[in-house]
Amino acid sequence: MHQIYETSAEAQSDFDEQGWQQGANCLGVDPDLFFPERGASTREAKEVCRGCVVREDCLEFALRNGEKFGIWGGLSERERRRIRRQRAQAARTIMGA
Ligand code: SF4
Repeated sequence: MHQIYETSAEAQSDFDEQGWQQGANCLGVDPDLFFPERGASTREAKEVCRGCVVREDCLEFALRNGEKFGIWGGLSERERRRIRRQRAQAARTIMGA
């Protein structure tokens, strides 16, 4: 699975505690696919993620650990940033309500 090579030690520990990665569609897939060069296509990686049964777990893991690079849960860094912003905004709205 691609993440195992790229996470921080802390995230790696968290990752090791997870069971979801056993169902990852990217097991055995070239990790480089999920960490494309700047401006390169993410289409192939996202295709792999599209059929992944642990996609939501993967995405939540990346969001929780603030993973800044690569495709996780079928989303790019920029797409994950948008989700984090939306969640932060929603939290502020609830706190202010
Ligand atoms: S969602 Fe994508 S990156 Fe995450 S485990 Fe599944 S195939 Fe791998």
